[in-house]
Amino acid sequence: MVSRTDFRRYLWSTRSPWLLAVLNLLCVVGLCAVSAFMLWDMRRDAERRTTAAAQSLVQVLSRDIARSIGMYDLSLRAIVDGWRLPAVMNADPETRQLILFDRAANAENFGHTLVFDRTGTLIISSKTPSPEPLSYADREYFQYHATHADPVLHVSVPLVSRLTGRWVLIISRRLSNPDGSFAGVVLGSIYLDYFRQLFAAIDPDHAGTVTLYGPGGTIVMREPFDEQLVGRSVSATGSYQRMLQTRQGVFTGPAMMGEGPRTFAVAQVGELPLQLSIALTAEDIYAAWWQKALVLAAVVLSLCATTVVLTTLFRRELTRRKAAQRATAALNAELQQLASTDALTGLSNRRRFDEVLERECRRAMRTGKPLSLLILDADYFKGFNDRYGHQQGDAALRLIAQAMQGSIHAYSDTAYRIGGEEFAVVLPDTGEPGAVTAANRIRQAVLAQAMPHASNPHGLVTVSCGVAAIPAGQNSDLIALVAAADAALYEAKRRGRNQVRISTSAERHFLVIEGGQQSRL
Ligand code: GH3
Ligand code: MG
Ligand code: MG
Repeated sequence: MVSRTDFRRYLWSTRSPWLLAVLNLLCVVGLCAVSAFMLWDMRRDAERRTTAAAQSLVQVLSRDIARSIGMYDLSLRAIVDGWRLPAVMNADPETRQLILFDRAANAENFGHTLVFDRTGTLIISSKTPSPEPLSYADREYFQYHATHADPVLHVSVPLVSRLTGRWVLIISRRLSNPDGSFAGVVLGSIYLDYFRQLFAAIDPDHAGTVTLYGPGGTIVMREPFDEQLVGRSVSATGSYQRMLQTRQGVFTGPAMMGEGPRTFAVAQVGELPLQLSIALTAEDIYAAWWQKALVLAAVVLSLCATTVVLTTLFRRELTRRKAAQRATAALNAELQQLASTDALTGLSNRRRFDEVLERECRRAMRTGKPLSLLILDADYFKGFNDRYGHQQGDAALRLIAQAMQGSIHAYSDTAYRIGGEEFAVVLPDTGEPGAVTAANRIRQAVLAQAMPHASNPHGLVTVSCGVAAIPAGQNSDLIALVAAADAALYEAKRRGRNQVRISTSAERHFLVIEGGQQSRL
């Protein structure tokens, strides 16, 4: 009976290399899946963090710019108010200068604050009490105020100042007469360098490109700085239009300058016609993530590769050991076969006979089934050897073995060579009648070989056979059974050979069986 544990052990032993491969595959796939999930999560996190940082930076910058321009505008408003007062305008130039231009107008980032009369001629400057009467009538902001009565702060596109030769952004207000007619323009100029320094100072390590847009989508400042781009308009691009609609927030769209998609964090600068954006490329967003991802992927892949290599080596070793075990088992089986086989006849030998007979005896006792034993001996065999030689004698023994093999049931009965010219047959589950039939069949099969034997009165090689049986349900032992079969054989010899004699261990008397005739002694 194969126990369940044995069966499980067998399954494990036959499939372990495969199980190992499958488990290894599961580990590798699991490790890769977990790592892929982590990378994906880190990627989303990198995107969230970069866009959030860009959004807060763009808001801080826009508030800063709105506050600075608002402050400068207060100075312009003061001039507009002062313009209406005759006492101020009629004062001597130095006093008027002091009244009109407060300290804000002279701040470092701001250029000239100028006043023009209705013809566009420069009449007052924050830098000098008596400026040169240059004409600015051709400037867009002057023409705007000359034709628009609204009192709003006008912001120009970036210009190169006629006085300083530097890039400036002009903010201006209209001067009106008490009747509302156009009286002139007051303007302030903001150096573009102010924006450049502001962008560079707030967060030097920020990701992406910061851009300030003026009226009509003109680029006022860009960081990293490129002078070629100042004054260029991007109003025709879809992303600029989307920025105007969004006012404040994040969206993704095509680049306004250059190629490819960008993530834009945008903010409106107060209520001025100015917008600020930070444009992020995928590289800006994922640069740090890529570094971590590459390290993690390299570590995970090396771990997977190591696992696979180790498992392959282990599996190979396991397979090699199994093959060695199988080879050893096969060798052992072969050795056992050799150890229990008679080399001359190929029948099982004496050792095997002893083992089998003992086992079958025990089984017969346990199951209550009958068991029979035949012991055969070649007749006058010494004479055969003497007459025909030892080699012929060996051949005769082989033929006797063949006759035995051909006369028994191969699936249950077993034949043995137990001595020089002595043989035996063990017949499990066979009672006396069956054993006698088998013995007779062997005796006749040997006779049928028709091997001449001049020293035998029968003229041919013959065998004598002693039969002993343990009847069903009776107790007996191995020694008694062999002794009974031996005694029956002795009797067969004594009675003239070439015959079968039977002895029952219980009754101790013999049956003579010759050519189907039998009699009890
Ligand atoms: P009996 O009819 O009483 O059995 O006479 P027997 O001559 O057969 O008996 P005995 O025991 O006197 O002789 C047995 C002979 O069997 C002796 C030996 O020469 C021969 N013999 C035993 N083993 C072998 C063998 O392996 N090969 C050959 N050729 N002869 C063997
Ligand atoms: Mg003999
Ligand atoms: Mg003998």
